[in-house]
Amino acid sequence: MTEGIQNKQIPNGGPDILVLGGGPAGSTVAIGLQRLGYQVSLLHSPRLWSTCEGISSRTLEGLRSAGLHRALDTVPPPTPRHVNWNGDTGSANTEHLVQREKFDAALLEDLSAAGVTLQAGLSRSISRSPEGHTSVEFETTQGTKHVLHCHFLVDARGRAASGTGPEQLRGPGTVSLLRIMRQAPVERGSQVHSFRNGWAWLANTADGLTFLQLTVDAASAKLPKRAELNRWFEQQLRQLSLPEVEQLNNGTLQNVVARGSTSILQGGLVSNNLLRVGDAAMAVDPLSGNGIFQSLSSALVAPAVINTLLQKPEDTALAKEFYQQRVRHTFLRFARTGRDFYRMESRWPESPFWRERQDWPDTEPSHPERAHTFIAVEHRPVLANGQIISRPVVITSDQPLGVWHVAGIELSVLLHELPPNEYQRKQLLVARVENACAGDPVKKDMLMAWLAHYQIA
Ligand SMILES: Cc1cc2nc3c(=O)[nH]c(=O)nc-3n(C[C@H](O)[C@H](O)[C@H](O)COP(=O)(O)OP(=O)(O)OC[C@H]3O[C@@H](n4cnc5c(N)ncnc54)[C@H](O)[C@@H]3O)c2cc1C
Repeated sequence: MTEGIQNKQIPNGGPDILVLGGGPAGSTVAIGLQRLGYQVSLLHSPRLWSTCEGISSRTLEGLRSAGLHRALDTVPPPTPRHVNWNGDTGSANTEHLVQREKFDAALLEDLSAAGVTLQAGLSRSISRSPEGHTSVEFETTQGTKHVLHCHFLVDARGRAASGTGPEQLRGPGTVSLLRIMRQAPVERGSQVHSFRNGWAWLANTADGLTFLQLTVDAASAKLPKRAELNRWFEQQLRQLSLPEVEQLNNGTLQNVVARGSTSILQGGLVSNNLLRVGDAAMAVDPLSGNGIFQSLSSALVAPAVINTLLQKPEDTALAKEFYQQRVRHTFLRFARTGRDFYRMESRWPESPFWRERQDWPDTEPSHPERAHTFIAVEHRPVLANGQIISRPVVITSDQPLGVWHVAGIELSVLLHELPPNEYQRKQLLVARVENACAGDPVKKDMLMAWLAHYQIA
């Protein structure tokens, strides 16, 4: 142990788990593990700048199921999102403009209320003993150093988590630059604008602030040194015809802050004593406006994966397969959807920003044009009662990881040993659906619609 470092033990009893990072992912995993009966500690260090992010209404559902009620209370009602892309304008969507400072502070309150032991500090180094125990050295805001020990470590430090080198899958290098301004009297809501060097996001929040974010290509943007960033930012703004920005420049509250926003899928997502979650596992393009939703989606399943690793070592391979496949599949699906959106902008084919993003990650279609079909029933890992188990699931052309239930009914039971004759197959399926739904017409309609969609009945 380093001189001057005090030893801090996580309370004994049961397998001890330490979560690094108190963003939405770390908070969700910590509360999920606490609900499963583990004693959890979480090391947190607030981000050093203010920011605002847009989330969809379905993200609110994720926050609710994670038990993040105080954080939910900081989320304002939805406001319109206007999009100006490829010269076309539209405003079909809405988003909730979340102020991360307030939201992140409320996450800590949720953690405290759930009984998670909180420790303020910044992790500095991680080491592992030959017996598999992990020690994390951290530094408090007063500059004192301490060590925490644990049996299992969850890395939820977001994009600040260490990279995994050649195992990573990285999109084109991207940087987002943010300026915060006092608001002119403008409509509440957000706007997305494409321009030659990238895209801009402008959010006018209910507390009278405007957040203006420019996302550009890291290599070709030739970003200057920090002292020159404000001037560079203003030069970029001249390419955008945003009249309100002219009025806003005088009300600047925070100097331009630069954040890496490259899409990254990390390697080494899960081992016997470590799991990466949220942005520390996969960080998606901010254009999707889905980062928080995605961080919740990996964090909501992570407690069951960790529980399986700790309680049923014989199912270790199954739990790892479940987590790795799920994160990778989601990342690629998002990357392809993002690529298709970039392809919709055709005005600057020579610009490195647009050229590189229109070809990454590959040429696979994000949504196959042919009708979706049933492929097979196969055993795959699924989540049940806080564990990962193996069950027969239905593989379809668009759901390669399989579908276990629809309307609460196990699909493989319905599709078991169907006759090849089409008429007999349909008769048998209708009878099985009737029986499984026990007279519930809503369930029956959902199941029949699903079977028809995949051309099974
Ligand atoms: C430019 C940009 C714009 C974005 N816009 C949106 C948007 O509009 N909508 C949306 O849904 N998502 C958006 N995102 C994505 C969103 O911010 C993340 O996906 C989400 O916050 C990930 O949650 P997380 O818990 O994994 O990580 P984070 O929220 O990043 O939380 C990680 C936490 O760990 C802490 N930490 C870091 N290092 C240490 C350490 N060494 N020790 C202790 N603590 C540490 C951090 O301070 C932070 O509190 C955007 C991302 C970027 C980069």
